[in-house]
Amino acid sequence: MTTPIVEMDGDEMTRVLWGMIKEKLIEPFVELKTEYYDLGLLSRNATDDRVTVEAAEATRRLGVAVKCATITPNRQRMEEYPELKKMWPSPNGTIRAILDGTAFRAPIVLPCIHPVVKNWKKPITIARHAYGDVYKAVDLATDEPGTATLSFRGAGGEEKTLDVQSVDGPAVWQAQHNRAASIRSFARSCFEYAITRRQDLWFSTKDTIAKVYDGEFKRIFAEEYESGYREKFEELGLTYFYTLIDDAVARVVRSEGGFIWALKNYDGDVMSDMVAAAFGSLAMMTSVLVSPDGTMEFEASHGTVTKHYYRYLKGEQTSTNPMATIFAWTGALRRRGEMDGISELVRFGEGLEKACLDTLQSGVMTGDLIPLAEQGFETRKVNSVEFLEAVAARL
Ligand code: NAP
Ligand code: MG
Repeated sequence: MTTPIVEMDGDEMTRVLWGMIKEKLIEPFVELKTEYYDLGLLSRNATDDRVTVEAAEATRRLGVAVKCATITPNRQRMEEYPELKKMWPSPNGTIRAILDGTAFRAPIVLPCIHPVVKNWKKPITIARHAYGDVYKAVDLATDEPGTATLSFRGAGGEEKTLDVQSVDGPAVWQAQHNRAASIRSFARSCFEYAITRRQDLWFSTKDTIAKVYDGEFKRIFAEEYESGYREKFEELGLTYFYTLIDDAVARVVRSEGGFIWALKNYDGDVMSDMVAAAFGSLAMMTSVLVSPDGTMEFEASHGTVTKHYYRYLKGEQTSTNPMATIFAWTGALRRRGEMDGISELVRFGEGLEKACLDTLQSGVMTGDLIPLAEQGFETRKVNSVEFLEAVAARL
């Protein structure tokens, strides 16, 4: 390797797995170069969270990052770690804001684990817009009869006011917004990622009802497609497909998978959990944060697996599934290889993924997957170390 990968270390059980994955599966095979940032909670605390910002800035500079799961402190964590100076914000939130990125979540699929939806044969990747709408809305409850209006005051004097509704009794109200720039970044990240993955892109909203609001999402996506991506899509034989959200849901359920589904913030929140549950296990969900310029940060979707960590601290060997974390590494190595024209690195990433899948397909798996394997499939439960050693042996 010549250009480094940004390596963001993390917390608890995933931090333990992180070290083992590097030691057993990567360092013996790759002349690994990383720029290391310790995003573990205590390091974020010691640096007043500057380390998170520095890691995100390094990612902009180097183009590829791999991140371990990290603790987002809450009240309970403030008690657990009395040295915390502040309830530091979610590192993922900080990084996403700096990279202006969209998160793409995809399941790792295997022949011996069938999704609940039996016609799904290939992974469905969910792209969730991560800004605005109901997540940045203001709400209001009123008691009297009356009228609500929505008004805008422009910095340059533009003024617009709209009657929302007149009511004859108690009522609830909500105002939402989104920014054109954020929608455009979302669209670009989706088109970029579809091209890298060589997969069709679906996008759905409810623009027949929200004609102006969702209509703007539809319009910006179409504009970006026509002006920047249609040619490349056609050259690769890819499709950009827009449809209404309810029609999309019906088509997704009847599809065989294998595409990227872009969704507005709320739709993506709901659908990503639905798709993850239908495919099987949280431990098999990967996530990539993609910037409009194609910068990528790879990670597992799950958290730091706290319950397993407490058992590990008591000296127990846990059967924590390292698959999504390994695939974060292979994703980053493959991307680095593609960007820098190092085909051996791409091949290594593919080979490591295959060794993992073959190990699982041979029946050797961590405890979380055993109940998901199809009936009659012979399995052997192993702990994390044994699983990594089985993969290393195949590799
Ligand atoms: P979690 O770490 O995802 O774990 C929830 C449960 O899911 C586990 O207790 C375990 O179930 C199962 N699980 C998840 N990953 C697994 C794996 N790799 N192998 C086996 N089982 C797995 O979620 P959490 O307990 O709600 O959160 C823990 C911490 O993670 C929190 O501090 C949170 O802030 C942080 N977090 C970070 C990220 C991130 O950095 N991207 C994302 C989410 C949460 P069983 O106990 O039943 O075995
Ligand atoms: Mg959710």
